Amino acid sequence: MRTLIRDCNIASPGFEVKHGSILFKDNIIYSVLTPGESLPDADLTINAGGLTAIPGLIDIHCHGRNNCDFTDGVVEGVNTIGKNKLKEGVTMMLPTTLTQSEEALTAAFDSVAHYDGMGVKMPGIHLEGPFVNPSEVGAQNPAFVRMPDIKMVERLNAIFPIHKVSFAPELPGGDTFVTDLLAMGIVPSAAHSAAKYTEFHRCYAKGLRNLTHYCNQMTPLHHREIGLVGAGLLHTNVFAEMICDMMHSSPNMIQLAFKVKGVDHMILITDAMRAAGMPDGEYDLGGLPVLVAGGAARLKENAALAGSVLRMNVALKNIVEITGLPLSEAVRAGALNAAHSLGYRNIGRIETGFTADVALIDDNFIVHNTFVDGELRYSLD
Ligand SMILES: [Zn+2]
Repeated sequence: MRTLIRDCNIASPGFEVKHGSILFKDNIIYSVLTPGESLPDADLTINAGGLTAIPGLIDIHCHGRNNCDFTDGVVEGVNTIGKNKLKEGVTMMLPTTLTQSEEALTAAFDSVAHYDGMGVKMPGIHLEGPFVNPSEVGAQNPAFVRMPDIKMVERLNAIFPIHKVSFAPELPGGDTFVTDLLAMGIVPSAAHSAAKYTEFHRCYAKGLRNLTHYCNQMTPLHHREIGLVGAGLLHTNVFAEMICDMMHSSPNMIQLAFKVKGVDHMILITDAMRAAGMPDGEYDLGGLPVLVAGGAARLKENAALAGSVLRMNVALKNIVEITGLPLSEAVRAGALNAAHSLGYRNIGRIETGFTADVALIDDNFIVHNTFVDGELRYSLD
């Protein structure tokens, strides 16, 4: 099956062209054509009419959408989230669980294992908690917090592959946990943590290279104790995964992080909860009531931010506006860096040989089409 997207502006890391064309052969990008080159035959030709083609976005931190949450443990909910994430130009995501009982997590893993695969790709799960610091629990339910437990990770991983575990590195056995996760091919990430810099560094020495929702629910930067926020700025090889909705961090903090670290180690995430794609109102997050209004989701009890209703295409728009980066650079934070952080080498660029995951967006970053593995899976009505 050969699919041709003609007359698109292409914005891929290190590469920009106006009025180019892209040819897919099955699930692979077969060739990228510049204007003037003769167009090849194809089984399906789509005229992009000057829309911009970007690599399919990757959301490695998303709890839900359209009133469904992965931790509900309901297969239909997984299917709904998978299909609706396409509207954000997302082609791959890591379903992300909440701090919950092992029984609830088992049900969640089981539901993802039965995903119909009709929407975005879900190659692995992001286990957020339950190994978090009770003092930095944020909107995670404190009732289910526990110490790092590799046996539990192994049990869940046997149901569906885990790609990433977010945990507090200062908890007892944190550094050994990093080693054990890496041995299983799982990416460890620091989150919901009160770690001092030295505690971070003990895990960094073992290979920890990710900071989950950078700046949120982690030790801030103080000039005599730089904490995890300072660690992220100091170690430019550490990936900072940021919720760029302008509420979880201020625009100037986002600007600072991009400036100090460079775009190569910034990763856009949504941390979206079930209210994403839904009207304002009252929702549930892991058993805690949440009020959604004005683009923010907050715990009813104490008004703490409780995940987001952010969409990946909006996150990308926000960072282009904040940083002034050209789109071809900004898309690194939306796709390529996440792919690299997970060890994928053939995803995140519109280049020959790469996986045919592409989104077509307009100048307002509204997604018109999303292609997953070369297949047109979403078109704007
Ligand atoms: Zn979190």
